[in-house]
Amino acid sequence: MPDRRGLLIILSSPSGAGKSTLARRLRDWDPSIVFSVSATTRARRPGEEDGKDYHFVPEATFKQLVSEGGMLEHAHVFGNFYGSPQKPVQEAIDRGCDVLFDIDWQGAQQIRNSSLGAHTLSIFLLPPSIPELRRRLEGRAQDDADTITKRMQKSWDEISHWDGYDFVLVNDDLDATEAHLKTIITATRLRRMQQPGINAHVRHLQTQFEEQT
Ligand code: ADP
Ligand code: 5GP
Repeated sequence: MPDRRGLLIILSSPSGAGKSTLARRLRDWDPSIVFSVSATTRARRPGEEDGKDYHFVPEATFKQLVSEGGMLEHAHVFGNFYGSPQKPVQEAIDRGCDVLFDIDWQGAQQIRNSSLGAHTLSIFLLPPSIPELRRRLEGRAQDDADTITKRMQKSWDEISHWDGYDFVLVNDDLDATEAHLKTIITATRLRRMQQPGINAHVRHLQTQFEEQT
């Protein structure tokens, strides 16, 4: 058994609040963090790479994966299916690596209720204001005006689930949010249940203690 038990780190927010930007920074900070590459039926956006940003799959393939029990969680978001493949997550956790998820509240809820629920760390990102959220979606220049309007309309749906998360951060200053995320992850890695090797250490201390008394 590895000395550490991996965490399932879940980042959720309304679209445009900063999940992907912060996920990138966390992976640069600690390359041992495995990013869970979701499968989706939505179309690939310019600049996105199949297998890196998402596994872009047809609806029939997605549904087959779900029916075979291959998804840790899945949801219908903005008219498309999204899901987290189970196998790479289990493999990473077994190696003692943390897995980072950029998923919505429905997925977060399913993972929390799964057999891996005890090992989740969930963080919700709030935008500093609704006008700023719109500015970020427009500034990202990835979506047409219609899609941005849809994402803005859906933002409250997502925000209304903020209180189901372990931590909530207002992503105003990006560097400050990044620093808070690192602090939260560093502390959670030290939870007793994330350190299976600690039992053996305590037994060893006990032996030494008994020998000297
Ligand atoms: P999400 O993944 O949640 O949809 P992104 O990470 O794509 O959001 O961020 C949306 C846009 O907002 C991007 O252009 C990103 O550079 C910008 N952004 C993210 N965080 C901040 C921040 N704290 N301050 C200003 N701009 C930000
Ligand atoms: P986008 O289309 O902007 O990449 O993602 C839209 C929304 O789907 C975001 O809120 C994102 O977090 C969510 N999402 C992405 N992948 C998954 C997934 O595997 N499962 C769930 N439940 N949501 C996902």
